[in-house]
Amino acid sequence: MSDCLFCKIARGEIPSRKVYEDDEVFAFHDINPVAPVHFMLIPKLHLDSLAQADEAHSALLGKMLVLASRLACEQGLENGFRTVINTGKGGGQEVFHLHIHVIGGGNIPPMVKRS
Ligand code: 5GP
Ligand code: ZN
Repeated sequence: MSDCLFCKIARGEIPSRKVYEDDEVFAFHDINPVAPVHFMLIPKLHLDSLAQADEAHSALLGKMLVLASRLACEQGLENGFRTVINTGKGGGQEVFHLHIHVIGGGNIPPMVKRS
């Protein structure tokens, strides 16, 4: 998708603070971090969201999860981290190129508050 923001970032047409890159994936720091460490991992292949993924993408998605953990460690998150994938308008997704948020380094509260 030539006009997709994250495709442009992966191609280097829009600058970003790169965390990692190989033939299939690109990782970069979020422009508006919610914690001391907040980066995103994207496939170079454009998929609007996780809802567009199917069995053909299983290996790629598995690789991304394993990589998310490795990169989190390399970014200093040995004590743990949060991974978030927002999917579709109903999931609060704002940029429609599949991405995994990796977040940590601060006081990460429980994601769902129960009273
Ligand atoms: P979503 O809400 O779609 O899961 O997350 C989109 C994320 O992309 C947001 O956390 C937002 O801060 C980040 N973002 C939006 N535009 C840019 C940009 O141009 N550069 C970078 N590095 N992050 C961006
Ligand atoms: Zn894209």
